[in-house]
Order: sequence, then C-alpha cells, then structure tokens
Amino acid sequence: MKNDQPDIPVVIIGGGPIGLFLAISLIKKGIKCLVLEKRKDPVPDSRSLGIHPVSLELFDKVNITETFLEEGLKIRKGFALSSDQVLGEIVFDDCPKPHNYILACPQFTTEKILRNELNKLDQKALITQAEFIDLKQHEDHIKIKYNDLQGNNKTITTDYLVGCDGKNSLVRQRSSIHYSGKRYDDTYVMGDFEDNTDFGTDAAVYLLPEGLIESFPLPNGMRRWVVKTNEYIEKPDTQIIVSLVKKRIDHDLKGITSVMISSFGVQHFIAETFVKNRVILAGDAAHIVSPVGGQGMNLGWLDTWKISEALSGRNIGLGLKKYSDKQRKITRKVAKRAELNMMLGRKTRIPLCRDLIIRTLLKEPLSKKVAQLFTMRGLDKWWI
Ligand SMILES: Cc1cc2nc3c(=O)[nH]c(=O)nc-3n(C[C@H](O)[C@H](O)[C@H](O)COP(=O)(O)OP(=O)(O)OC[C@H]3O[C@@H](n4cnc5c(N)ncnc54)[C@H](O)[C@@H]3O)c2cc1C
Repeated sequence: MKNDQPDIPVVIIGGGPIGLFLAISLIKKGIKCLVLEKRKDPVPDSRSLGIHPVSLELFDKVNITETFLEEGLKIRKGFALSSDQVLGEIVFDDCPKPHNYILACPQFTTEKILRNELNKLDQKALITQAEFIDLKQHEDHIKIKYNDLQGNNKTITTDYLVGCDGKNSLVRQRSSIHYSGKRYDDTYVMGDFEDNTDFGTDAAVYLLPEGLIESFPLPNGMRRWVVKTNEYIEKPDTQIIVSLVKKRIDHDLKGITSVMISSFGVQHFIAETFVKNRVILAGDAAHIVSPVGGQGMNLGWLDTWKISEALSGRNIGLGLKKYSDKQRKITRKVAKRAELNMMLGRKTRIPLCRDLIIRTLLKEPLSKKVAQLFTMRGLDKWWI
C-alpha cells in the first residue's frame, strides 16, 4: 500500500529524557515530529543524577545547556575511600573545557527542563496521556495506533517511528526485535537526604569489605546515598539506609530529612538491531546498562543525536544502518565500563588488593585516563 503524504515525518513513542531530547534535536534540524507520552507529568522520582560532559556538549548544539546549569550542580571532584582512609581522588579539571565536570541533576528536573525546552520550540510536539498500542510497517510509511486521553483509538501515519518507550518497549515488541542480556546479582538501596557531610560539592565512593557506598551531591542542599545490599529489598525504607551507612562508615543520617527511597537491581540488555525498516530504537528501549557509573541516560542521548543526523542526512537508509552498527558497539563498551565500576564496588575477601588497584588507578598518569573513562570519553576509540 502506498501513502503519498504521511501525517508527520517522525513520530516518537515515549517522552522520557531520550524521546524529549530527540524531538528537540530533530526540530532544531528542521524536521517536524510528534512525541506520544502516556504519562501526564514528568517522572516523579530522582533516578538518574549524572549528566556527563559529552551530553552537555550536545545540549550546547541545541542551546539548552544554560537551563541545566541553573538547576544542576557541578561535581568537579570525587574521592575513593576505604573504611578508614582516602585511597585517591578523581578530578575533572583537566577534562576538556568548558564542561570539565559532571552535572548533578535529578531525573524529574531533567525531564521538566526538556519538556519546557520542547514546548518553546513547538507547543504541539508533545501529546501527553497518549498511549501507543500498535504499528504496521508499509513500504513507504508506518501506521501507528494509539489511545488518547479519552481512551479513543487514533491512527497516525509517519515516515519513521522512533521507540523511546523505555526498557519494556512495546515498539520493540511489536516490531519483533529481540532484546537479549542478563540480570546481575548486584542489588542496591538508594535515597536522597539533606546533606549533613563535609563533602560539599564533591562525590565520595566508599569501597568497603561489605560492599559499596556512594554519596553524591545534589542541588538544593541534598545528597544521594547508594548502598550495596546482599539481596533485593522489596520495600526499602529510610531506616535501612540509615543503619547500613552507620554500620559501614559510622556516618549518622538519623533524623535527617529524606526522600525518594528505592531499591534497584542491575541488568544489561541490548536489542539485536536498533533499526528495522522504518522503526528505530533509542535509549532504554535499545539498551540498558548498570546504573552504577551513571551512563544509561547519557548513552541514550548519544543515540538520539546520531538518529537526528541520520534523519537529516542525504542517505537516510545508510545513516540509520551506521547508527545501529556503531551505537551497538558503543553500547557494549559502555556496558563493560559499567561492569568494571560495579565489580570494584562488590564485596571482597581481599580488600587490600582492591585498595592497591584503586590507589594505582587514581595516581598520575593513570588518573587522567580514569577521569576520561568516567566521563564517557573515547567511546569511539578502540581502547575500552
Ligand atoms: C536507580 C537508577 C539510577 C540511574 N542513574 C543514572 C545516571 O546517573 N545517569 C544516567 O545516565 N542514567 C542513569 N540511569 C538510567 C536512566 O534512568 C535511564 O537510562 C533513562 O531513564 C532512560 O530514558 P528513556 O527515555 O530511554 O526511558 P524512560 O525514562 O523509561 O522513559 C520512557 C518513557 O516512555 C513512556 N512510555 C512507555 N510506554 C509507552 C507507550 N506504550 N505509549 C506512550 N508512552 C510510553 C513512559 O511513560 C516514559 O515516560 C539510572 C537508572 C536507575 C534505575
């Protein structure tokens, strides 16, 4: 069946951080698009925290960095500590300027900013409370079915459909794209507390015999605590974090205001292809990596930029093929880095050996390389 005039060149399913940034990038490149998002409001939790310099450089290209800088907090340094001493520090000063830091910004703020920026460009580009149901690929267009706010069944046709609908992506399922990977045994609890440490805007990572504790600064005087647990805790509460932090590093969070207490496990999954005919996958719909090291969302933004380049290029088919092939390689590399981060934070019976490795990695000249790896540099190079 031929369709001479699709309703819109690109439809994006999912208005999370990845779908929203893709829409902004496409509009900036002169491509009209529509985002269908089933939720009414941005995600309520603070989940992702770190925005890496590689993403800020993409934000520069579409002029949205300023707003992020107003709402976020710059992390310029991080400490690695054992139970009783500092093992070393990682400093981002020598990373390429101007973004020689990691920007801490909770995910609900990130989504709020991206929604506002998209709205400034095109007030009609985001349709909320619109749930994607099904798709049918034709030779020269795709037909999409979705339910609107009133539950009415709607149809729209487009040249390209991008699934940014998260790890359980229905777009991926309806396109019969296989998603393979594994779940790890690693489990964590996390919560955001009022900051009662002396770390200021520095991050601190404790590598302990009983397992990792991470402590990251957040905007507005808050601090994120992530604590490795022996098993997945179904209904975590503040008390669990307070007692584990007290027991392992003797820091007292008792009575401190806390929000966003949650548990998470770790998985790595990747789609067998990121492009199938006119369906494209990006973000968690295409891949998930361990949150330890904070790369998943940033990797998704790298996807979207490449998609926007392919869709605005001369040979879209070739551009999309390159996107799928290259970005799958990069995903594997990111997953390896995330796995390394996770491994270093596991329980160990030979802490002295791990401490020695960390001390060596965080000393010159290796420390500069580590800072680059940590900030997602060199992903297109041959080395890890
Ligand atoms: C504890 C934790 C901490 C993390 N920390 C970091 C970090 O510091 N840095 C980092 O880079 N990453 C981090 N991540 C990963 C990051 O949260 C994800 O990679 C990111 O949310 C992926 O964005 P996305 O837009 O692809 O998917 P999602 O955020 O899942 O968004 C998908 C969107 O699609 C919508 N949707 C789904 N189905 C449909 C449908 N049928 N119709 C319409 N809409 C639909 C959903 O409502 C949602 O809004 C962390 C993850 C976890 C769990």
